[in-house]
Amino acid sequence: MTIVDTPERRQLRELTRAFVTREVLPHLDDWERAGEVPRELHATAAKIGLLGIGFPEQVGGSGGDLLDSIIVTEEIIRSGGSSGLVAALFTHGIALPHMVAAAGGRLGGSLGGRLGTERATDDDLIDRYVRPTLAGTMIGALAITEPDGGSDVAAIRTTARRDGDHYVVNGSKTYITSGVRADFVTTAVCADFPGSGELTLLVIDKGTPGFTVGRRLEKLGWHCSDTAELSFVDVRVPVTNRIGEEDTGFLAIMQHFAAERLSLATQAYATAQRCVELTVRWCRDRTTFGRPLAGRQLVRHRLAEMHTRAEAARAYVHDVAARVAAGEPVVTEVAMAKNVAVAACDQVVDQALQLHGGFGYLRDAEVERHYRDARILGIGGGTTEIMNEIIAKGMGL
Ligand SMILES: Cc1cc2nc3c(=O)[nH]c(=O)nc-3n(C[C@H](O)[C@H](O)[C@H](O)COP(=O)(O)OP(=O)(O)OC[C@H]3O[C@@H](n4cnc5c(N)ncnc54)[C@H](O)[C@@H]3O)c2cc1C
Repeated sequence: MTIVDTPERRQLRELTRAFVTREVLPHLDDWERAGEVPRELHATAAKIGLLGIGFPEQVGGSGGDLLDSIIVTEEIIRSGGSSGLVAALFTHGIALPHMVAAAGGRLGGSLGGRLGTERATDDDLIDRYVRPTLAGTMIGALAITEPDGGSDVAAIRTTARRDGDHYVVNGSKTYITSGVRADFVTTAVCADFPGSGELTLLVIDKGTPGFTVGRRLEKLGWHCSDTAELSFVDVRVPVTNRIGEEDTGFLAIMQHFAAERLSLATQAYATAQRCVELTVRWCRDRTTFGRPLAGRQLVRHRLAEMHTRAEAARAYVHDVAARVAAGEPVVTEVAMAKNVAVAACDQVVDQALQLHGGFGYLRDAEVERHYRDARILGIGGGTTEIMNEIIAKGMGL
């Protein structure tokens, strides 16, 4: 299967490209230095309908499905943006879907399945968090990972003890994308005893007493994407801020991992494609020993291999994404798509930097940023090793 290139999708590509050219490229270096993207960028992206792609109109989205979101992600990076920018501007892609699904909204294909029952409080969460976020006036984050470990999601230790019509939350989270700027955090907690594997999702507002946003974490890459540690000490969260029913959080997280993993896979192959383009341009212009680099067979073959890796990864990710959108149960294939795309990206960014020589090592070179940004793609949303565990399970091992 593949992503059909309809006239609407071609228009979406043009819209995305124009947005990046006009609103992102003149400022991206400043945002990398500042460690975050400005809030106004969310409003600008919302105004032209980009922020809401993949979310139903009934919840304030722009419509479209998972495949349209992939088109947007791909085009942002191919037109000179970065995976860090995607992480910062589209954090709602991981912070909101559980709320939309719990309220019965369809997110596209099989990803919008219901969790728990449709309750008035879930509709209320749509009005209080989903609509303002898709309108670009609120920023959300998703907090699963804890200092004691991220791969083993079921081992979460942050607790939520029921006290009347509130939960009292204690624990901490780390590496949370957009955690510095977020107005609310979709937080995975354990309402039973820690380690029970039964998780619940609560939406926790910034400013709630006992909820502290810790230091801004300094990173190898994704510099324009703020990352934070969060601490919860006796934080009282109204029961009305629970997403779906108690103990449905683990299933919700697992269901929405597919979209997150495909987004990361898309960021990986699109980064590879962008680096191939940049490197081809460089190798045509750069002359050594009296000839352009591209005039040498060794260099041409290296570029050919980089191009092949990027295109093969793209074709496979598109195939798996189309199957997810069609409702096929392809958990193993999603894991393989992520690993294939990340491996292609790792090899291509390394070769791209090498072919740029000394310039490739400088902050002035776009490939330098992609080289650093790419390293997280095999860690976030489930590491390469955890993907291999899923694949091995799918093989019956
Ligand atoms: C920039 C950035 C942004 C992030 N954003 C978010 C976010 O928004 N929200 C959020 O909740 N989390 C976020 N994360 C966390 C990320 O999802 C985790 O870092 C990731 O899931 C790995 O968890 P960990 O770091 O605890 O590593 P660990 O689980 O401690 O793993 C360490 C190493 O051991 C390997 N390993 C673990 N278990 C096994 C096993 N069974 N078999 C073989 N190898 C194994 C892992 O693959 C890894 O190589 C972010 C991380 C970063 C760096």
